Amino acid sequence: VLCVSQDFDFFYFVQQWPGSYCDSKQSCCYPTTGKPAADFGIHGLWPNYKDGSYPSNCDPNNPFDQSEISDLTSSMQKNWPTLACPSGSGLKFWEHEWEKHGTCSESVLDQHAYFQTTLNLKRKVNLLQVLKSAGIQPNGEFYSLANIREAIQNGIGYTPWIECNVDTSGNSQLYQVYLCVDTSGSNLIECPVFPNGKCGSQIEFPTF
Ligand code: 5GP
Ligand code: 5GP
Ligand code: 5GP
Repeated sequence: VLCVSQDFDFFYFVQQWPGSYCDSKQSCCYPTTGKPAADFGIHGLWPNYKDGSYPSNCDPNNPFDQSEISDLTSSMQKNWPTLACPSGSGLKFWEHEWEKHGTCSESVLDQHAYFQTTLNLKRKVNLLQVLKSAGIQPNGEFYSLANIREAIQNGIGYTPWIECNVDTSGNSQLYQVYLCVDTSGSNLIECPVFPNGKCGSQIEFPTF
């Protein structure tokens, strides 16, 4: 039987809380298009192996091409904003994500499909709404890691992984939320393996 080679096992769909990116030591710069909405933004869609390792920078012959996603630009600016300094439009962030991660799933998703699929996931997974419904608000208060995980698990139906960073005062805060997606990029799945990294048991959900 012929089969298409499968060069990864699943994706991590990773969203970032802008308030936490900005509160950390590296600080942040708003994009040239203006301050993003107070919502989770996309960081990336990352091919991964079920042993926890991952491929990266898989195809130097398939560089980022802005013209292939011109129809997605306004949605990208809204849902996949860059917070790195100096301020940019987002193109450098998207180029980095495509070249480091997207090229490793190019057998499944071409460049347009990669970005479109990731935007579709963001539309399906409204983390902020799920957290707010559970009384977990971006107001600078501390919440238990277990309650945050449970709210997402109950609201989305799949177990998340929470990545924390530290603010300039040393508080552990809610930085990124990982969910797992099948190799088509369309369906959430339970994670075959979780990333590593520690949070405090109580973590801050800062304002943005
Ligand atoms: P950090 O070292 O800040 O956790 O991650 C730096 C970068 O390495 C991430 O933005 C991402 O590009 C990549 N990375 C980190 N952990 C993982 C992982 O578990 N899977 C994949 N596919 N990439 C990762
Ligand atoms: P990673 O390799 O961690 O997936 O990608 C992080 C790279 O994208 C870094 O070079 C970082 O400076 C850049 N970058 C640009 N905008 C952002 C942003 O809003 N969030 C994060 N985490 N990285 C960004
Ligand atoms: P358990 O499997 O008992 O829930 O957690 C085992 C360890 O992993 C505990 O130290 C717990 O704090 C940590 N942990 C559980 N879930 C997460 C998570 O989503 N993110 C992070 N960073 N640590 C977690």
